[in-house]
Amino acid sequence: MLSALGDLFSSSELRVRTKRDRKVNTAAGKLTKIFKSVTFAAALVLPFASFNSLHAAEEKTPVIMEKAGEIDLSVLIQQWASEMDDVYAETHIEPKDTSKKIFERLGIQDKAFTRYVTTIKGKENPFARLSRGRLIQARLTTGGEVISLRVFRPIDSQSKDISFFEVSKNKDGKFMHAEKTSGFDALPIAASGVITSNLDKAAVEANIPAGVLKQIKDRLSTELNLSKDVSKGDTFSVIYERRQLDGADIGTGKLLAIEYYAKNKTIESYWYEGEGIEGYYDSEGKNNDVTFLRMPCEARVTSTFNRVRRHPVTGRLRPHWGVDLGAPKGTPIYAASDGTVTTKRYQRRGYGYWLEISHSSGYTSLYAHMSKYAPGIEPGTKVKKGQLIGYVGATGMATGPHLHYELKKDGQQVNPLIADLRTGENLRDEAAEDFKVAIAPMRRQIAMLSRIQLAQNQPRTAAH
Ligand SMILES: [Zn+2]
Repeated sequence: MLSALGDLFSSSELRVRTKRDRKVNTAAGKLTKIFKSVTFAAALVLPFASFNSLHAAEEKTPVIMEKAGEIDLSVLIQQWASEMDDVYAETHIEPKDTSKKIFERLGIQDKAFTRYVTTIKGKENPFARLSRGRLIQARLTTGGEVISLRVFRPIDSQSKDISFFEVSKNKDGKFMHAEKTSGFDALPIAASGVITSNLDKAAVEANIPAGVLKQIKDRLSTELNLSKDVSKGDTFSVIYERRQLDGADIGTGKLLAIEYYAKNKTIESYWYEGEGIEGYYDSEGKNNDVTFLRMPCEARVTSTFNRVRRHPVTGRLRPHWGVDLGAPKGTPIYAASDGTVTTKRYQRRGYGYWLEISHSSGYTSLYAHMSKYAPGIEPGTKVKKGQLIGYVGATGMATGPHLHYELKKDGQQVNPLIADLRTGENLRDEAAEDFKVAIAPMRRQIAMLSRIQLAQNQPRTAAH
């Protein structure tokens, strides 16, 4: 319920919006659109009637004025008027989908378009081989003719641009197609929740998308044990990106801020990008990313992360999901990050003496071919980043003394040597100043959300 506030929400930008939910009876019945944002600067109230007359059939919907200023109304009105006749429809590719079903769901009634799509040859035609989950957006005339249609490639929360396949009409009214890449707008959305049973449920109730929930868990797991420390009555507020391209939503992006209030603990984390730095920090500029030692021992890389490699002992072609760090026997090995030892084992035909450590945010690290473990290292032992855990050796299947080191994120191996801007260092001097200025509007908005939430929850708690 509170998440509806997200739609009224604007960050430090000043904007005016019209929100027009257009609905068309298609099988899916779900048509979304539109936020058109126009940036300007002082106070203004625009009666809706002034442009309602432009299009009699247009639904009456409020225009939300946040802050106002100088604005060229004629340009705005023209822009709105030109868009009012278009219908925007979207859908996702579903299992066992066909292009016919997709076009029906979108409300497309355009033989020239469907004919054109079948003439697009080869791999570039996304309708020739449908990839489940892809977002498709179409801009249509009210009669169902296609003005343009886009099939988006998937992106993750860290992506800075998006690729899509586009069919559109040229000046002569002929269809054409192209593969395009573009930047996108990131609109900050605020949402707020209260734990009644667990975090997942609270997120669903607050309309927080799954991709954002995952990032929330990553953030919280650096400071909380999610299965033990999340309890009824905890509250939280988040700000995350809603990504838009040409005014249409194309999905959610990065978690920009979270404030989580547990009984005896407050967790704050804000995303910051400065010059040559990026990461999550608390309100004081202290880094709260999970970071790793680039190399857990003093060594040289003898074999790197490689998806196709011939195994040095067996000669078989096998991917190498870790890095080999060559060092003399007895070289100390350190825990790559804070965590808990989960496995300690001997494997004669494989890793020899090895151990695995579980870290927050879904990371695990694995150390193999050790000659010896450090004293006190057992399954369940909590270790700190840089703590001694064992010594380099050549146990198991190894040609010589080295540390085989693997880093996994959510069970999937990642290359620990690849550069990352996240240093784990706290912000200092100018960056710290800049950071405080950058997060101030987010903190104000979260404070506002928290007040509203408090007011909403009080009567409910009283009624119980
Ligand atoms: Zn190896």
